[in-house]
Amino acid sequence: MSNKQFSGKSAIVTGATRGIGKAIALELAKRGANVAFNYSKSAGEADKLKTEIEGLGVKAFAAQCDVGQTDSAADFVKQAKEEFGTIDFLVNNAGITRDQLILRMKEEDWDAVIDTNLKGAWNFSKAVLRPMMKNESGGSILNISSISGVVGMLGQSNYSASKAGMIGLTKSLAKEIASRKITVNALALGLIETEMAAEMNSEYREKILEQIPLKRLGNVQEVAEIACFMLSDAAAYITGQVIQADGGLAM
Ligand code: NDP
Repeated sequence: MSNKQFSGKSAIVTGATRGIGKAIALELAKRGANVAFNYSKSAGEADKLKTEIEGLGVKAFAAQCDVGQTDSAADFVKQAKEEFGTIDFLVNNAGITRDQLILRMKEEDWDAVIDTNLKGAWNFSKAVLRPMMKNESGGSILNISSISGVVGMLGQSNYSASKAGMIGLTKSLAKEIASRKITVNALALGLIETEMAAEMNSEYREKILEQIPLKRLGNVQEVAEIACFMLSDAAAYITGQVIQADGGLAM
């Protein structure tokens, strides 16, 4: 076994075919963890990532699984556990936006965002708890939230509610399972350069950029490094916390 930081550990990252999830999955693999990840539509990207992760000398497991479906989430976790033997880390990353002012927002846009972002995180957290509780060294869950859930954002009543919900989920779960040596934390991200951020109206994006004290968007590698720190033993005494990585936007 190699002596990398996460050698012998196994992680699940939800929604890792691109963007932040992909960067976190690769960084975990580079540091020696086996990585299981799911996706909704992008089977081709998932195959490529699986090969890339295996090329780093660790095991990879990938499957299509809608995070919002409770039974599918439980099945995915069961399969990952069978592949790897243990589950030490969970990163609830899968997320979508369906931005619209509330008067024009359709009920299906509310439901889709809440089901994916919030119920998805609940589904996966619930499913990993039993395997994690069996680990002598416990485990760590990281929820990828947003400053939209902390301060609210125009046109994001559904998304802000889902991301604020993830923060509540983080704190409740942290209290419930701290005695089992499982930590639960959240990252409240500002604007990070991914396809999701590229969908934003360019005028609105410029306006937000002006308000970011560091005067730039974040990048996925920066998020991956923070995520690995939060999952690592170095952060073992941090639980129930929301770490804002937003260039100072929401301070
Ligand atoms: P992307 O849109 O680039 O990627 C989203 C990923 O989630 C894809 O792999 C997608 O898979 C997967 N996914 C979407 N829906 C589902 C589902 N129902 N089941 C399983 N997988 C799904 O997003 P980002 O990388 O930008 O964002 C990742 C996370 O970070 C999200 O939770 C987002 O809310 C959060 N965040 C992002 C910010 C940003 O500025 N980018 C800011 C703050 C928070 P597929 O391709 O198969 O659909």
